[in-house]
Amino acid sequence: MSVFDHAEFDHHEALHFFDDPTTGLKAIIAVHSTALGPAAGGCRRWHYTTDDDALTDVLRLSRGMTYKNAVAGLPFGGGKSVILASDDAPKSPQLFRAFGRAVESLNGLYIAAEDVGINVDDIRLAGEETSYVSGLPQHGDSAGGDPSPWTALGVFLGIRAAAKVRLGKDSLEGISIAVQGAGHVGSRLCKMLVDAGAQIFVADVNRKNLKQVSTSMQITAVSPRDILFHDVDILAPCALGNILNSETIPRVRAKVIAGAANNQLATERDGQRLAERGILYAPDYVINAGGVISIAREHLGQSSVDEVRAEVSTIPTRLEEIFAEAHATERPTNVVADELARRIVANAGDTDATDDLERIQFG
Ligand code: NAD
Repeated sequence: MSVFDHAEFDHHEALHFFDDPTTGLKAIIAVHSTALGPAAGGCRRWHYTTDDDALTDVLRLSRGMTYKNAVAGLPFGGGKSVILASDDAPKSPQLFRAFGRAVESLNGLYIAAEDVGINVDDIRLAGEETSYVSGLPQHGDSAGGDPSPWTALGVFLGIRAAAKVRLGKDSLEGISIAVQGAGHVGSRLCKMLVDAGAQIFVADVNRKNLKQVSTSMQITAVSPRDILFHDVDILAPCALGNILNSETIPRVRAKVIAGAANNQLATERDGQRLAERGILYAPDYVINAGGVISIAREHLGQSSVDEVRAEVSTIPTRLEEIFAEAHATERPTNVVADELARRIVANAGDTDATDDLERIQFG
């Protein structure tokens, strides 16, 4: 396994590997940047085919968190963790407490929260060993709890903004949308889209999750093999990453791609491929920042649910600015977003960086 010359290494500040034979915990915590503050990002538990796959995933996700937190205007850097799932180390309170001790050993360099395969209870267990976790059970009207509803809200508002720009529609009434993945975010997003009058097609490889959405609302189930290529106005990827690549992009029929999944583009070049096909791409880490906004406000304390909602509601404005700049400069939206993120990180502590953000947030 190469590390420093790994294609996705991108000057990570730190990489920590944890192996706890007592609980079976095998985890990697990646800290990409602390220029804007402690590295904040979710923990993913996944069955990786190889350790290399886990390393690649955590490196890509961690850099994405640097960009996401920067563009969202949060005082946090970027980091991420993965727990390598295996039959020898099933989910258990001991496993998550061991993960909490791993996070604690970094002394606040990294703050963990929920991602794929992790729920509020898992984070609560880790939180028995460390205060450097967020997404803990929510109390009263304070910010906190499962970040997925906030992610879903941000994606919903972002889809509306993208539909206006690319389809010229003020409403989602009658708009067809294919949702890949009906998990924590996808299922909530489906509900909001159905309530807005959209026509929804959903696929999930997990039959239980698919059944739950298809029995509780008016949606059409589609095969996971076909969902990316379904004949719809909008595609909302809400499963895993690397789904938009040189093989899939030529077959996509949607005019807009706007969803929650992290790292939707396999490579930066795939943003150009989408632009060449006239497909408007909402950069993933911009549209899916709702969850980390909640996580960040919970961790900093003193924010209410209403304040989180107001902050999540700025996501469409940020997207519209990126769409407008991409259009004006004839560059792909992912390139414009990445440049903005890198500029904010490079100018950490500099007022010009704040100006960049304010311009992009408030027009
Ligand atoms: P989740 O694990 O609850 O849901 C993912 C769903 O996708 C599962 O139901 C899974 O069975 C399904 N899936 C996996 N592969 C699939 C495939 N090939 N085709 C169809 N379905 C497939 O995860 P989540 O919390 O809903 O997150 C979804 C995505 O959004 C992830 O990429 C995550 O990193 C990203 N994200 C989540 C949050 C959040 O707040 N949870 C925040 C930002 C980004």
